[in-house]
Amino acid sequence: MFCFTDIQNYHGQLKTGATTCAQAVQFYLDEIKSQQALNAYLEVFAEEAIEIANRLDAERLEGKPMGPLHGVVVGIKDVISYKGHALSAASKILENYTAVYSATAIEQLLNAGAIIIGRQNCDEFAMGSSNENSAFGAVKNAADITRVPGGSSGGSAVAVQANLCMVSLGSDTGGSVRQPADFCGVVGLKPSYGRISRYGLIAYASSFDQIGIFSKNISDAALVLEVIAGADDFDSTVSARAVPEYTQVIHQALGPKKIAYFKETLTHPGLDPEIKNQIENQIIALRAAGHVVEGVDFDLLNFIVPTYYVLTTAEASSNLSRFDGIRFGHRTTEKVEDLAELYKLSRTEGFGAEVQRRILLGTFVLSAGYFDAYFTKAQQVRQKLVEFTSQVFAQYDFIISPTVPTTAFKLGTQHQSATEIFLADIYTVYANLVGIPGISLPLYTHSNGMPFGLQVMSASFEESALLSFSNSLMQA
Ligand code: GLN
Repeated sequence: MFCFTDIQNYHGQLKTGATTCAQAVQFYLDEIKSQQALNAYLEVFAEEAIEIANRLDAERLEGKPMGPLHGVVVGIKDVISYKGHALSAASKILENYTAVYSATAIEQLLNAGAIIIGRQNCDEFAMGSSNENSAFGAVKNAADITRVPGGSSGGSAVAVQANLCMVSLGSDTGGSVRQPADFCGVVGLKPSYGRISRYGLIAYASSFDQIGIFSKNISDAALVLEVIAGADDFDSTVSARAVPEYTQVIHQALGPKKIAYFKETLTHPGLDPEIKNQIENQIIALRAAGHVVEGVDFDLLNFIVPTYYVLTTAEASSNLSRFDGIRFGHRTTEKVEDLAELYKLSRTEGFGAEVQRRILLGTFVLSAGYFDAYFTKAQQVRQKLVEFTSQVFAQYDFIISPTVPTTAFKLGTQHQSATEIFLADIYTVYANLVGIPGISLPLYTHSNGMPFGLQVMSASFEESALLSFSNSLMQA
Protein backbone atom coordinates (compact mmCIF):
# COMPACT_ATOMS: atom_id res chain seq x y z
CA MET A 1 0.00 0.00 0.00
CA PHE A 2 1.10 3.55 -0.69
CA CYS A 3 2.78 5.16 2.29
CA PHE A 4 4.01 8.75 2.43
CA THR A 5 6.81 9.92 4.70
CA ASP A 6 8.40 12.83 2.84
CA ILE A 7 8.78 14.10 -0.72
CA GLN A 8 12.37 12.96 -1.13
CA ASN A 9 11.46 9.42 -0.14
CA TYR A 10 8.40 9.50 -2.46
CA HIS A 11 10.59 10.62 -5.35
CA GLY A 12 12.96 7.75 -4.60
CA GLN A 13 10.03 5.33 -4.82
CA LEU A 14 8.90 6.86 -8.12
CA LYS A 15 12.38 6.46 -9.57
CA THR A 16 12.67 2.79 -8.65
CA GLY A 17 9.14 2.15 -9.84
CA ALA A 18 8.00 1.11 -6.36
CA THR A 19 5.08 3.48 -6.75
CA THR A 20 3.50 5.83 -9.32
CA CYS A 21 1.87 9.24 -9.18
CA ALA A 22 -1.40 7.58 -10.16
CA GLN A 23 -1.14 5.24 -7.16
CA ALA A 24 -0.42 8.17 -4.89
CA VAL A 25 -3.41 10.13 -6.16
CA GLN A 26 -5.67 7.08 -5.83
CA PHE A 27 -4.51 6.59 -2.25
CA TYR A 28 -5.43 10.16 -1.33
CA LEU A 29 -8.76 10.03 -3.17
CA ASP A 30 -9.66 6.89 -1.22
CA GLU A 31 -8.61 8.46 2.08
CA ILE A 32 -10.57 11.63 1.35
CA LYS A 33 -13.64 9.51 0.65
CA SER A 34 -13.34 7.32 3.72
CA GLN A 35 -12.68 10.34 5.97
CA GLN A 36 -15.31 12.59 4.44
CA ALA A 37 -16.83 13.20 7.87
CA LEU A 38 -13.84 15.41 8.72
CA ASN A 39 -15.17 17.92 6.13
CA ALA A 40 -11.63 19.00 5.25
CA TYR A 41 -12.31 19.49 1.53
CA LEU A 42 -14.96 21.67 -0.06
CA GLU A 43 -14.25 20.13 -3.45
CA VAL A 44 -12.00 17.37 -4.76
CA PHE A 45 -10.58 17.62 -8.28
CA ALA A 46 -10.52 13.83 -8.71
CA GLU A 47 -10.62 13.38 -12.48
CA GLU A 48 -8.19 16.16 -13.13
CA ALA A 49 -5.75 14.88 -10.49
CA ILE A 50 -5.81 11.38 -12.00
CA GLU A 51 -5.23 12.83 -15.46
CA ILE A 52 -2.20 14.87 -14.35
CA ALA A 53 -0.80 11.89 -12.44
CA ASN A 54 -1.03 9.69 -15.53
CA ARG A 55 0.66 12.36 -17.63
CA LEU A 56 3.49 12.70 -15.09
CA ASP A 57 3.95 8.94 -14.92
CA ALA A 58 4.18 8.75 -18.71
CA GLU A 59 6.65 11.63 -18.89
CA ARG A 60 8.86 10.08 -16.22
CA LEU A 61 8.93 6.78 -18.07
CA GLU A 62 9.97 8.63 -21.22
CA GLY A 63 12.91 9.96 -19.25
CA LYS A 64 11.71 13.54 -18.96
CA PRO A 65 13.35 15.25 -15.97
CA MET A 66 11.23 15.43 -12.83
CA GLY A 67 10.26 18.85 -11.50
CA PRO A 68 11.06 19.55 -7.84
CA LEU A 69 7.44 18.82 -6.85
CA HIS A 70 6.87 16.06 -9.41
CA GLY A 71 3.68 14.23 -8.47
CA VAL A 72 3.42 15.90 -5.08
CA VAL A 73 -0.23 15.86 -4.03
CA VAL A 74 -1.17 19.28 -2.69
CA GLY A 75 -4.38 20.67 -1.19
CA ILE A 76 -5.14 24.38 -1.23
CA LYS A 77 -7.11 26.52 1.19
CA ASP A 78 -10.17 27.88 -0.53
CA VAL A 79 -8.89 31.45 -0.54
CA ILE A 80 -6.27 30.84 -3.24
CA SER A 81 -7.26 31.28 -6.90
CA TYR A 82 -6.91 28.32 -9.24
CA LYS A 83 -8.07 29.22 -12.71
CA GLY A 84 -11.25 27.54 -13.85
CA HIS A 85 -12.00 26.18 -10.38
CA ALA A 86 -14.54 27.36 -7.85
CA LEU A 87 -13.21 29.78 -5.23
CA SER A 88 -15.51 30.53 -2.30
CA ALA A 89 -13.48 31.69 0.74
CA ALA A 90 -15.94 29.36 2.53
CA SER A 91 -18.54 32.10 2.10
CA LYS A 92 -22.06 32.10 0.69
CA ILE A 93 -21.24 35.36 -1.01
CA LEU A 94 -18.80 33.63 -3.39
CA GLU A 95 -20.61 30.31 -3.54
CA ASN A 96 -20.94 30.27 -7.34
CA TYR A 97 -17.75 32.08 -8.23
CA THR A 98 -15.12 30.56 -10.52
CA ALA A 99 -11.53 31.82 -10.45
CA VAL A 100 -10.55 33.62 -13.64
CA TYR A 101 -6.79 33.37 -13.05
CA SER A 102 -4.37 31.35 -10.95
CA ALA A 103 -2.41 32.68 -7.99
CA THR A 104 1.32 32.94 -8.63
CA ALA A 105 1.92 30.34 -5.91
CA ILE A 106 -0.41 27.94 -7.77
CA GLU A 107 1.36 28.57 -11.09
CA GLN A 108 4.66 27.79 -9.40
CA LEU A 109 3.34 24.60 -7.83
CA LEU A 110 2.02 23.41 -11.19
CA ASN A 111 5.21 24.34 -13.03
CA ALA A 112 7.16 22.31 -10.49
CA GLY A 113 5.02 19.24 -11.22
CA ALA A 114 2.57 19.32 -8.29
CA ILE A 115 -0.91 17.81 -8.48
CA ILE A 116 -3.61 19.94 -6.86
CA ILE A 117 -6.16 17.56 -5.44
CA GLY A 118 -8.79 19.92 -4.09
CA ARG A 119 -9.77 23.07 -2.26
CA GLN A 120 -9.93 22.96 1.48
CA ASN A 121 -12.49 24.21 3.98
CA CYS A 122 -11.62 27.19 6.18
CA ASP A 123 -13.19 29.96 8.22
CA GLU A 124 -15.13 32.39 6.05
CA PHE A 125 -12.66 34.85 4.49
CA ALA A 126 -9.99 33.40 6.80
CA MET A 127 -11.59 34.99 9.85
CA GLY A 128 -11.62 32.72 12.84
CA SER A 129 -9.76 30.27 15.03
CA SER A 130 -11.86 27.11 14.91
CA ASN A 131 -13.07 26.66 11.33
CA GLU A 132 -16.62 26.96 12.72
CA ASN A 133 -17.11 30.17 10.74
CA SER A 134 -17.21 28.30 7.44
CA ALA A 135 -20.49 28.66 5.56
CA PHE A 136 -20.07 25.01 4.59
CA GLY A 137 -19.84 23.38 8.00
CA ALA A 138 -17.15 22.92 10.61
CA VAL A 139 -14.03 20.79 10.08
CA LYS A 140 -13.22 18.11 12.67
CA ASN A 141 -9.87 17.44 14.26
CA ALA A 142 -8.73 13.97 13.20
CA ALA A 143 -7.05 13.37 16.58
CA ASP A 144 -10.44 13.78 18.30
CA ILE A 145 -13.49 14.47 16.16
CA THR A 146 -15.28 16.20 19.04
CA ARG A 147 -12.66 18.95 18.85
CA VAL A 148 -11.95 21.80 16.44
CA PRO A 149 -8.98 21.68 14.09
CA GLY A 150 -8.22 25.36 14.69
CA GLY A 151 -8.54 28.06 12.09
CA SER A 152 -8.75 29.67 9.86
CA SER A 153 -6.91 27.09 7.67
CA GLY A 154 -8.52 24.16 9.52
CA GLY A 155 -9.20 22.01 6.45
CA SER A 156 -5.62 22.41 5.25
CA ALA A 157 -4.19 21.32 8.62
CA VAL A 158 -6.50 18.32 8.94
CA ALA A 159 -5.75 17.25 5.37
CA VAL A 160 -2.05 16.85 6.25
CA GLN A 161 -2.82 15.38 9.68
CA ALA A 162 -5.22 12.74 8.30
CA ASN A 163 -3.22 11.81 5.16
CA LEU A 164 -5.59 13.51 2.73
CA CYS A 165 -2.68 15.13 0.84
CA MET A 166 1.11 15.42 1.19
CA VAL A 167 1.26 19.16 1.84
CA SER A 168 -1.25 22.02 1.94
CA LEU A 169 -1.14 25.72 1.28
CA GLY A 170 -2.96 27.93 3.76
CA SER A 171 -2.88 31.60 4.62
CA ASP A 172 -1.75 33.25 7.84
CA THR A 173 -2.89 36.75 8.78
CA GLY A 174 -2.71 36.32 12.55
CA GLY A 175 -1.90 32.67 13.07
CA SER A 176 -4.16 30.80 10.66
CA VAL A 177 -1.42 28.39 9.63
CA ARG A 178 0.47 28.05 12.91
CA GLN A 179 -2.56 27.70 15.21
CA PRO A 180 -4.31 24.86 13.31
CA ALA A 181 -0.90 23.20 12.83
CA ASP A 182 -0.51 23.29 16.63
CA PHE A 183 -4.02 21.84 17.19
CA CYS A 184 -3.52 19.06 14.61
CA GLY A 185 0.07 18.05 15.29
CA VAL A 186 1.65 19.05 11.97
CA VAL A 187 4.28 21.56 10.86
CA GLY A 188 2.88 25.02 10.00
CA LEU A 189 5.13 27.67 8.47
CA LYS A 190 4.28 31.33 8.02
CA PRO A 191 7.12 32.90 6.06
CA SER A 192 8.17 36.56 6.29
CA TYR A 193 5.75 39.15 5.00
CA GLY A 194 6.61 39.50 1.31
CA ARG A 195 8.43 36.17 0.94
CA ILE A 196 5.66 34.56 -1.17
CA SER A 197 3.59 36.40 -3.74
CA ARG A 198 0.03 37.02 -2.63
CA TYR A 199 -1.23 37.55 -6.15
CA GLY A 200 -4.39 35.46 -6.31
CA LEU A 201 -4.82 35.18 -2.54
CA ILE A 202 -8.17 36.63 -1.45
CA ALA A 203 -7.21 39.58 0.74
CA TYR A 204 -8.24 39.71 4.38
CA ALA A 205 -5.79 42.24 5.85
CA SER A 206 -3.25 43.12 3.19
CA SER A 207 -0.46 44.35 5.44
CA PHE A 208 -0.59 41.05 7.39
CA ASP A 209 -1.57 38.32 4.92
CA GLN A 210 0.94 35.69 3.91
CA ILE A 211 0.59 32.29 2.24
CA GLY A 212 1.88 29.51 4.48
CA ILE A 213 2.67 25.80 4.27
CA PHE A 214 1.48 22.71 6.17
CA SER A 215 3.61 19.59 6.04
CA LYS A 216 4.58 16.53 8.02
CA ASN A 217 8.24 17.54 8.28
CA ILE A 218 10.65 20.42 7.78
CA SER A 219 12.24 19.26 4.54
CA ASP A 220 8.89 19.26 2.70
CA ALA A 221 8.05 22.74 3.98
CA ALA A 222 11.52 23.91 2.88
CA LEU A 223 11.05 22.45 -0.60
CA VAL A 224 7.61 23.96 -1.15
CA LEU A 225 8.86 27.32 0.12
CA GLU A 226 11.80 27.17 -2.26
CA VAL A 227 9.39 26.62 -5.15
CA ILE A 228 6.77 29.27 -4.35
CA ALA A 229 8.86 32.08 -2.78
CA GLY A 230 10.34 35.00 -4.68
CA ALA A 231 9.74 38.04 -6.82
CA ASP A 232 6.54 38.47 -8.81
CA ASP A 233 5.58 41.26 -11.19
CA PHE A 234 1.96 40.85 -10.12
CA ASP A 235 2.55 41.62 -6.42
CA SER A 236 4.33 44.87 -5.57
CA THR A 237 4.62 43.85 -1.89
CA VAL A 238 6.64 40.72 -2.54
CA SER A 239 10.38 40.86 -1.94
CA ALA A 240 12.85 40.59 -4.81
CA ARG A 241 15.48 39.02 -2.53
CA ALA A 242 17.02 35.87 -3.90
CA VAL A 243 15.43 32.65 -2.65
CA PRO A 244 17.98 30.51 -0.79
CA GLU A 245 18.17 26.75 -1.33
CA TYR A 246 16.25 26.03 1.85
CA THR A 247 16.37 22.27 1.25
CA GLN A 248 20.18 22.36 1.34
CA VAL A 249 20.68 24.68 4.31
CA ILE A 250 18.41 22.77 6.65
CA HIS A 251 20.96 20.00 6.91
CA GLN A 252 23.85 22.28 7.79
CA ALA A 253 25.23 21.80 11.27
CA LEU A 254 24.09 24.43 13.71
CA GLY A 255 26.36 26.01 16.29
CA PRO A 256 25.13 27.31 19.62
CA LYS A 257 22.35 29.90 19.18
CA LYS A 258 21.02 32.76 21.26
CA ILE A 259 17.35 32.28 21.93
CA ALA A 260 14.91 34.65 23.60
CA TYR A 261 11.55 33.98 25.16
CA PHE A 262 9.20 36.68 26.38
CA LYS A 263 8.74 36.30 30.13
CA GLU A 264 5.14 37.53 29.93
CA THR A 265 4.17 34.73 27.54
CA LEU A 266 4.91 32.15 30.20
CA THR A 267 3.19 33.99 33.05
CA HIS A 268 0.07 34.67 30.98
CA PRO A 269 -3.00 33.62 33.03
CA GLY A 270 -4.67 31.90 30.06
CA LEU A 271 -1.75 29.54 29.48
CA ASP A 272 -2.48 25.86 30.15
CA PRO A 273 -0.11 24.75 32.98
CA GLU A 274 0.98 21.63 31.09
CA ILE A 275 1.89 23.67 28.01
CA LYS A 276 3.81 26.07 30.22
CA ASN A 277 5.63 23.19 31.85
CA GLN A 278 6.56 21.66 28.51
CA ILE A 279 7.98 24.96 27.19
CA GLU A 280 10.00 25.38 30.39
CA ASN A 281 11.39 21.88 29.91
CA GLN A 282 12.22 22.78 26.33
CA ILE A 283 14.18 25.79 27.56
CA ILE A 284 16.14 23.54 29.92
CA ALA A 285 16.82 21.07 27.08
CA LEU A 286 18.01 23.83 24.75
CA ARG A 287 20.41 25.10 27.40
CA ALA A 288 21.67 21.58 27.95
CA ALA A 289 22.29 21.35 24.20
CA GLY A 290 24.60 24.36 24.41
CA HIS A 291 22.28 27.19 23.37
CA VAL A 292 21.87 30.38 25.36
CA VAL A 293 18.22 30.90 26.29
CA GLU A 294 17.18 34.09 28.06
CA GLY A 295 13.93 35.67 29.22
CA VAL A 296 13.22 39.11 27.78
CA ASP A 297 10.65 41.62 29.09
CA PHE A 298 7.81 42.25 26.68
CA ASP A 299 5.54 44.78 28.33
CA LEU A 300 3.53 45.31 25.13
CA LEU A 301 2.18 41.75 25.16
CA ASN A 302 -1.31 42.74 26.26
CA PHE A 303 -1.56 45.35 23.52
CA ILE A 304 -0.90 43.09 20.59
CA VAL A 305 -4.30 41.42 20.30
CA PRO A 306 -6.28 44.72 20.37
CA THR A 307 -3.79 46.24 17.93
CA TYR A 308 -4.15 43.28 15.60
CA TYR A 309 -7.96 43.38 15.67
CA VAL A 310 -8.15 47.15 15.11
CA LEU A 311 -5.81 47.06 12.12
CA THR A 312 -7.01 43.82 10.51
CA THR A 313 -10.70 44.70 10.75
CA ALA A 314 -9.97 48.14 9.29
CA GLU A 315 -8.16 46.55 6.34
CA ALA A 316 -10.85 43.88 6.00
CA SER A 317 -13.65 46.43 5.86
CA SER A 318 -11.91 48.00 2.91
CA ASN A 319 -10.85 44.74 1.19
CA LEU A 320 -14.29 43.17 1.47
CA SER A 321 -16.12 46.19 0.04
CA ARG A 322 -15.63 44.69 -3.43
CA PHE A 323 -18.14 41.94 -2.59
CA ASP A 324 -21.14 44.10 -3.31
CA GLY A 325 -23.51 41.88 -5.29
CA ILE A 326 -22.61 43.70 -8.49
CA ARG A 327 -19.17 42.47 -9.47
CA PHE A 328 -18.80 39.22 -7.58
CA GLY A 329 -20.89 36.41 -6.25
CA HIS A 330 -24.21 36.49 -4.51
CA ARG A 331 -26.82 39.10 -5.42
CA THR A 332 -30.11 39.35 -3.58
CA THR A 333 -33.22 38.29 -5.47
CA GLU A 334 -35.42 40.54 -3.30
CA LYS A 335 -37.09 43.49 -4.98
CA VAL A 336 -35.06 46.60 -4.20
CA GLU A 337 -35.69 50.32 -4.56
CA ASP A 338 -32.14 51.52 -5.13
CA LEU A 339 -28.47 50.54 -5.36
CA ALA A 340 -27.76 51.09 -1.66
CA GLU A 341 -30.48 48.62 -0.76
CA LEU A 342 -29.13 46.10 -3.27
CA TYR A 343 -25.68 46.32 -1.67
CA LYS A 344 -27.10 46.07 1.79
CA LEU A 345 -29.32 43.06 1.16
CA SER A 346 -26.75 41.17 -0.92
CA ARG A 347 -24.07 41.64 1.72
CA THR A 348 -26.42 40.85 4.61
CA GLU A 349 -27.47 37.61 2.93
CA GLY A 350 -24.00 36.66 1.70
CA PHE A 351 -21.71 37.32 4.66
CA GLY A 352 -21.79 35.26 7.85
CA ALA A 353 -21.95 36.72 11.35
CA GLU A 354 -18.21 36.87 12.07
CA VAL A 355 -17.40 38.58 8.78
CA GLN A 356 -20.17 41.10 9.39
CA ARG A 357 -18.85 41.76 12.88
CA ARG A 358 -15.40 42.49 11.51
CA ILE A 359 -16.62 44.71 8.68
CA LEU A 360 -18.65 46.72 11.21
CA LEU A 361 -15.75 46.93 13.65
CA GLY A 362 -13.34 47.94 10.90
CA THR A 363 -15.68 50.58 9.51
CA PHE A 364 -16.08 51.95 13.03
CA VAL A 365 -12.34 52.26 13.76
CA LEU A 366 -11.86 54.02 10.42
CA SER A 367 -14.75 56.46 10.91
CA ALA A 368 -13.88 60.16 11.13
CA GLY A 369 -14.64 60.60 14.85
CA TYR A 370 -12.70 57.53 16.00
CA PHE A 371 -9.86 57.23 13.50
CA ASP A 372 -7.19 58.74 15.74
CA ALA A 373 -8.36 57.01 18.89
CA TYR A 374 -8.20 53.54 17.33
CA PHE A 375 -6.54 53.26 13.95
CA THR A 376 -3.75 55.80 14.49
CA LYS A 377 -3.09 54.47 18.01
CA ALA A 378 -2.87 50.92 16.74
CA GLN A 379 -0.43 51.95 14.03
CA GLN A 380 1.72 53.62 16.68
CA VAL A 381 1.76 50.42 18.73
CA ARG A 382 2.70 48.49 15.60
CA GLN A 383 5.62 50.84 15.02
CA LYS A 384 6.79 50.35 18.62
CA LEU A 385 6.60 46.59 18.14
CA VAL A 386 8.72 46.81 15.00
CA GLU A 387 11.39 48.82 16.85
CA PHE A 388 11.32 46.44 19.81
CA THR A 389 11.65 43.46 17.47
CA SER A 390 14.75 44.80 15.77
CA GLN A 391 16.31 45.30 19.21
CA VAL A 392 15.54 41.70 20.13
CA PHE A 393 17.02 40.32 16.91
CA ALA A 394 20.12 42.47 17.33
CA GLN A 395 20.86 40.21 20.29
CA TYR A 396 19.13 36.92 19.59
CA ASP A 397 18.75 34.48 16.70
CA PHE A 398 15.31 33.17 17.60
CA ILE A 399 12.30 33.81 19.79
CA ILE A 400 10.41 30.81 21.14
CA SER A 401 6.94 30.61 22.68
CA PRO A 402 3.95 28.33 22.87
CA THR A 403 1.97 28.55 19.61
CA VAL A 404 -1.42 28.65 21.38
CA PRO A 405 -2.28 28.93 25.12
CA THR A 406 -4.46 25.78 25.06
CA THR A 407 -4.90 22.59 23.06
CA ALA A 408 -7.78 22.25 20.57
CA PHE A 409 -11.09 23.03 22.23
CA LYS A 410 -14.39 21.20 21.83
CA LEU A 411 -16.54 21.89 18.79
CA GLY A 412 -19.44 24.16 19.60
CA THR A 413 -17.93 25.66 22.72
CA GLN A 414 -16.21 28.64 21.19
CA HIS A 415 -19.19 30.93 21.00
CA GLN A 416 -19.08 32.19 24.59
CA SER A 417 -17.46 35.52 23.73
CA ALA A 418 -15.67 36.92 20.71
CA THR A 419 -13.11 38.63 22.93
CA GLU A 420 -12.18 35.34 24.54
CA ILE A 421 -11.55 33.77 21.14
CA PHE A 422 -9.57 36.80 19.98
CA LEU A 423 -7.38 36.63 23.09
CA ALA A 424 -6.32 33.08 22.23
CA ASP A 425 -4.39 34.58 19.29
CA ILE A 426 -1.97 36.16 21.76
CA TYR A 427 1.15 34.24 20.69
CA THR A 428 0.65 34.21 16.94
CA VAL A 429 -0.44 37.74 15.92
CA TYR A 430 2.90 39.26 16.93
CA ALA A 431 4.76 37.72 13.96
CA ASN A 432 2.20 39.17 11.54
CA LEU A 433 2.24 42.60 13.18
CA VAL A 434 5.99 42.86 12.63
CA GLY A 435 6.26 40.74 9.47
CA ILE A 436 8.67 38.09 10.77
CA PRO A 437 8.47 34.38 9.93
CA GLY A 438 7.13 31.88 12.44
CA ILE A 439 6.73 28.14 12.52
CA SER A 440 4.79 25.77 14.73
CA LEU A 441 6.60 22.50 15.40
CA PRO A 442 4.53 19.47 16.53
CA LEU A 443 6.75 18.42 19.41
CA TYR A 444 4.42 17.60 22.31
CA THR A 445 1.36 15.65 23.42
CA HIS A 446 -0.90 16.83 26.24
CA SER A 447 -2.30 14.45 28.87
CA ASN A 448 -5.71 15.04 27.24
CA GLY A 449 -4.29 13.22 24.22
CA MET A 450 -4.08 16.26 21.97
CA PRO A 451 -0.92 17.44 20.18
CA PHE A 452 0.53 20.90 20.65
CA GLY A 453 3.49 22.76 19.33
CA LEU A 454 6.43 25.03 19.93
CA GLN A 455 6.50 28.29 18.01
CA VAL A 456 9.87 29.52 16.74
CA MET A 457 10.32 32.94 15.14
CA SER A 458 13.33 34.54 13.48
CA ALA A 459 14.18 37.93 12.02
CA SER A 460 12.58 38.74 8.65
CA PHE A 461 13.91 36.72 5.70
CA GLU A 462 15.90 34.43 7.99
CA GLU A 463 13.88 31.40 6.93
CA SER A 464 17.07 29.42 6.27
CA ALA A 465 18.16 29.68 9.89
CA LEU A 466 14.61 29.19 11.12
CA LEU A 467 14.17 26.01 9.12
CA SER A 468 17.53 24.52 10.00
CA PHE A 469 16.97 25.21 13.70
CA SER A 470 13.48 23.73 13.40
CA ASN A 471 14.91 20.68 11.72
CA SER A 472 17.34 20.14 14.57
CA LEU A 473 14.49 20.42 17.09
CA MET A 474 12.33 17.95 15.17
CA GLN A 475 15.20 15.43 14.95
CA ALA A 476 15.93 15.76 18.65
N1 GLN B 1 -7.56 33.84 14.36
C1 GLN B 1 -7.13 34.98 13.63
C2 GLN B 1 -8.31 35.78 13.16
O1 GLN B 1 -9.39 35.33 13.33
C3 GLN B 1 -6.23 34.57 12.53
C4 GLN B 1 -6.79 34.69 11.16
C5 GLN B 1 -5.81 34.42 10.06
O2 GLN B 1 -4.61 34.30 10.27
N2 GLN B 1 -6.33 34.43 8.86
O3 GLN B 1 -8.18 36.83 12.64
